[in-house]
Amino acid sequence: SERTLVLVKPDGVKRGLVGEVISRIERKGLRLAAMDLRMVERSVAEEHYAEHKDKPFYGDLLDFITSGPVVAIAVEGPRAVTAFRQLAGGTDPVEKATPGTIRGDFALETQYNLVHGSDSPESAERELKLWFPDL
Ligand code: ATP
Repeated sequence: SERTLVLVKPDGVKRGLVGEVISRIERKGLRLAAMDLRMVERSVAEEHYAEHKDKPFYGDLLDFITSGPVVAIAVEGPRAVTAFRQLAGGTDPVEKATPGTIRGDFALETQYNLVHGSDSPESAERELKLWFPDL
């Protein structure tokens, strides 16, 4: 089986959608291996989003992800990376995510798209080391 890092971003926590996200993960059949509500250090945010450091939205993304608590979840199961990305829906909640997905059902703007999920097993292991070093 495989692991992935899921984040309920500050918009999801503020809007009270943590339970909704966890419920969808569990109903899919994936397992919660670790979970934590926490503020994100700027340095952790920078490392997490390092691949976007030259993008125009990088600064705003760091401000946003450090603006309030997030819920970090280590999720485990067969093909967990792809399975969660399917639950989340596409990055743009209106143009790409379809109804029935987390973003498609609950979000309107790309910056405020509620959740993060690792995009490959390799990214997942890198991100899990960053977010859950003791796991
Ligand atoms: P995540 O990595 O959070 O799961 P993703 O893989 O669907 O999202 P990426 O392209 O890796 O999308 O972008 C990372 C995050 O940066 C997005 O989830 C979104 O919050 C933000 N983002 C991406 N593109 C834009 C944009 N054009 N404008 C504002 N924010 C953006």
